[in-house]
Amino acid sequence: MSKEVSFFNFSIAKILSKEQSFLDQARIRLLFFGFPLVFIALGTIFLSVYSQGQMMLAYTAAVLMACVVVLFKFLTYKPNWQLISHLLLSAGTLVNASIVYVTVQNVNIVTVQVVILVIVFSYYMLGQTGGLVYSLLNTVPILVFMIIEFTKGYVINVKPDKIDQSTIIITLFANFILLIFIHSHFYNAFLKNIRQLKDSGEDQEALNAMLGKAIEKAEKSTHAKSEFLSTMSHEIRTPLNAVIGMSNLLIMNNPRVDQKENLEILKFSANNLLAIVNDVLDFNKIESGKVVFENIRFNLVELMDNICGAQMLKALEKGLLFKLDVDSSLNDKVIFGDPTRVTQIIYNLVSNAIKFTPKGRILVRVTCFEDRHNTVTVKFSIKDSGIGIEEHNLSSIFEPFTQESLTTTRQYGGTGLGLAIVKRLLDLQGLHMDVASKIGEGSEFTFAMEFPVSTEILVEKAVVPLVKTPAETGNMPAIRVLIAEDNMVNVMLMKKLLSKWNIVPSIAENGLRAVELLQYGNFDIVLMDLQMPVMNGLDATIEIRKMADPKKSCIPIIALTASALLDIKEQIFEAGMNDYISKPFKPDELLEKIQQLVQVA
Ligand code: ADP
Repeated sequence: MSKEVSFFNFSIAKILSKEQSFLDQARIRLLFFGFPLVFIALGTIFLSVYSQGQMMLAYTAAVLMACVVVLFKFLTYKPNWQLISHLLLSAGTLVNASIVYVTVQNVNIVTVQVVILVIVFSYYMLGQTGGLVYSLLNTVPILVFMIIEFTKGYVINVKPDKIDQSTIIITLFANFILLIFIHSHFYNAFLKNIRQLKDSGEDQEALNAMLGKAIEKAEKSTHAKSEFLSTMSHEIRTPLNAVIGMSNLLIMNNPRVDQKENLEILKFSANNLLAIVNDVLDFNKIESGKVVFENIRFNLVELMDNICGAQMLKALEKGLLFKLDVDSSLNDKVIFGDPTRVTQIIYNLVSNAIKFTPKGRILVRVTCFEDRHNTVTVKFSIKDSGIGIEEHNLSSIFEPFTQESLTTTRQYGGTGLGLAIVKRLLDLQGLHMDVASKIGEGSEFTFAMEFPVSTEILVEKAVVPLVKTPAETGNMPAIRVLIAEDNMVNVMLMKKLLSKWNIVPSIAENGLRAVELLQYGNFDIVLMDLQMPVMNGLDATIEIRKMADPKKSCIPIIALTASALLDIKEQIFEAGMNDYISKPFKPDELLEKIQQLVQVA
């Protein structure tokens, strides 16, 4: 509407633009083509009245023609159709009233026609309000005039012009043409508008279809990405399993001191790589929304002892003071929650605290914040006196693959996934993490978690006999072990490991073979890989549990999983397996599990 062009412009194309609606474009066109029409009509009327010496009417027509020329020029310079319509209608209203009250002093068919023209034009150009105002301004004075003339007769001191029949015919004709012109113009605009609505509806539909396809594609590629990541991690874990397992075996073989050192480095690096792979796998799982939180019973004090036990050693090795302070009111409480996820959160925070503290102390504090009848709110705080974090980095460190600076990466390593995992695990439970940190003074990470409390009181655990270390198990009676595993490196590794305890296992290269071997042979325990060709470990277990001989159908089965993911745990127990161990496992851990399940005489 406020489009500006050169003052000497006379082209309609220059005053129309795509930003204007169809209706506004129609309004500008109406004025642009209407003005010449009106000019011609007025010119004809002027000639007619002038030739008959009706000078008042001739002046009126001449003034109106001048107005039309000025407004036309204004329109081609600035297409402000609203202002132009107001000016035109105001002039029209004044002229109409002056003709009725002064020039002609009469209401005839032409007056009625002009009023209709004004009503139509004002509604089309200015809408409801403008239309109503100009309609009233034109009809009311005429009605008043008619009433005055009817009641007392209208008399003023000016002699009215007499209009002859030819002028009336010319005016009537011109007015009809204008009426038809206005209507046809708006009818076209109306049709165009409807067509545009239909087209934009179709465009919208096409756009929606495209959007749907794009979303589907994005979902597919996210799915492919997460599939790729889990397959890759699985593929990486398998050889890593062999590396860690082999270094374990070599370390158990009484190596020389220098060899032992190298082996420890090898094992440490492989374990580090494994931790990274696990982080990626875990983050991928959280991102794809596959995390389900468990709600099982546990004791928080025991859990914290377990998490911090191993970490404490690391801190001590670094010469740091490590203090774990757990509220004593939690000692005998059994609570419900997801201990694995709590472990993951605390473990990541404590690892970071140790990693980023060159000297000083780490304080892990667990306080019972609110103790209600059936729930407790516990506040966890992990505080260190380490390097600290710049204030402007306090939120970015929770972004995946983000570390505070390049120096951090160089000096401390890491993937920048730990805090991202922690944050997402808390977010998923609707919890918030607070961080307070000062460069050079240390950091404190705090969050509160609510747990339902079980009514049972924790009883002292029966003393579990200590698991024998592999070195002590030289006299362990040989048990018959069936290993179902398709990966030959893993088979070799297991064989070597079991040979330490004088166990010679039988090998089945897939689940079906394991079922067959079990049918004809006698075994004490099955170590079952999950992903195998022909028949996987879960299906093989289901088959075994269906066997008629109770000695066989009840045989202990330990799943060997390549994935540390939680959902696999459920499937394992559902299939009827007794326990699971994630590869790469520690020899002690495997031995402990075997001893727990097999009644060793
Ligand atoms: P990573 O430990 O693998 O680098 P995280 O996601 O656990 O990744 O941490 C992200 C970054 O946050 C770290 O690289 C480090 O810069 C900063 N950070 C985390 N914890 C601490 C801490 N306790 N003290 C100082 N900086 C920390």
